[in-house]
Amino acid sequence: MTRPVFRFAPSPNGELHLGHAYSALLNDRMAKEADGRLLLRIEDIDVTRCTRDFEQAIYRDLNWLEVGWEEPVRHQSEHFEDYAGALESLADAGLVYPSFMSRGEVRAIITEAEEAGRDWPRDPDGVPLFPSTERNLSDRERKRRIADGEPFAWRINVDEAMRHAGQTLFWIEGGAGPKGETGEIPATPRAWGDVVIARKEVPTSYHLSVVIDDALQGITHVVRGKDLFQATALQRLLQELLGLNAPVYFHHDLVLGEDGHKLSKSRRDTGLNSLREAGLTPSDIKRMVGLA
Ligand code: GLU
Repeated sequence: MTRPVFRFAPSPNGELHLGHAYSALLNDRMAKEADGRLLLRIEDIDVTRCTRDFEQAIYRDLNWLEVGWEEPVRHQSEHFEDYAGALESLADAGLVYPSFMSRGEVRAIITEAEEAGRDWPRDPDGVPLFPSTERNLSDRERKRRIADGEPFAWRINVDEAMRHAGQTLFWIEGGAGPKGETGEIPATPRAWGDVVIARKEVPTSYHLSVVIDDALQGITHVVRGKDLFQATALQRLLQELLGLNAPVYFHHDLVLGEDGHKLSKSRRDTGLNSLREAGLTPSDIKRMVGLA
């Protein structure tokens, strides 16, 4: 029987905090219980915010917590060609389009619609959906603007993509969503609208690289925070469009700060480095996140 494969996939754009510790320790525990493997993936596509120092700090903190992972570590920044290839196939199938609108232009369209009394739709995070007007630009116009050096991003045409996928999409949730959803979950990627799939300078996005890497690395179990529960809908759609295997998902509770808010990488009080320097031990951390 093939062994289950888990992964912990941090971005080296800040110090790990208690929330990351919980996710890493839970992956480690679940992998051990299932006689599975644990891989580590460095999600460093944002080359302006990710640094080698933060990456080294990830290894140091995970070693301290005695989380064991298999070598080699996959670095997303070394695989831009894989992502570019997938992007090209989506573009060839007419499922993504170049989008030139600036934030200001987008805001103006939405404000105008709202002032006219329209209830502009919002995504699961509460962000207004992107107006889909650029779906209709002609090929000629697109080529001209690209040749003119206008900045653009590749956005998915989510309606076309759903037609292309041609079936109801589901994922298997072994954990639970924010409202306790579990088991077979219907994926509704339209809720996110025409999201960015790649940028002009970086031929990928979080969503595109995560599905490609999970498939290439043979990940069978994705164990991650509930904040990514809704994003799974979009990732399922990309898997379907690119012919990639879908792992089982297990979304875990988030570790919240004392004020009940999500922990952030800039908050020093819950950073693993600060906690270690304050004299806490790995056992203390495990107790704090409920994994003692
Ligand atoms: N790199 C993402 C993060 O640090 C995690 C992505 C995932 O687990 O799918 O939040």
